[in-house]
Amino acid sequence: MKIQCPKCLPKEGIERPDFSTSEKDKLSEMVKNNPMKGMMYLREQHMLSLHDAKYIVLHINEKTGHCNRCNFDNLKGEYINCPKCGAFNFNWMYKPQENI
Ligand SMILES: [Zn+2]
Ligand SMILES: [Zn+2]
Repeated sequence: MKIQCPKCLPKEGIERPDFSTSEKDKLSEMVKNNPMKGMMYLREQHMLSLHDAKYIVLHINEKTGHCNRCNFDNLKGEYINCPKCGAFNFNWMYKPQENI
């Protein structure tokens, strides 16, 4: 499946890798704490170009349901273009571990 973001991607979009649930958690965590690490991970595990890895990291939501680009706060679905500003969001259900 291709993903596209009218705000910052070439029209043809990029191919979205399939992420496992544990990868989603891992990536969400990395995007919060160390985006560079997230990019490295994507490049190594999914053989992505630097451009694609960077793109993906930049579009993973820090807060579930909240658009990365504007203040829209009601995104539904995991891979979604914001209905307000059109930006693409990786809107994963990320919940930080509470009982550590
Ligand atoms: Zn974008
Ligand atoms: Zn938006």
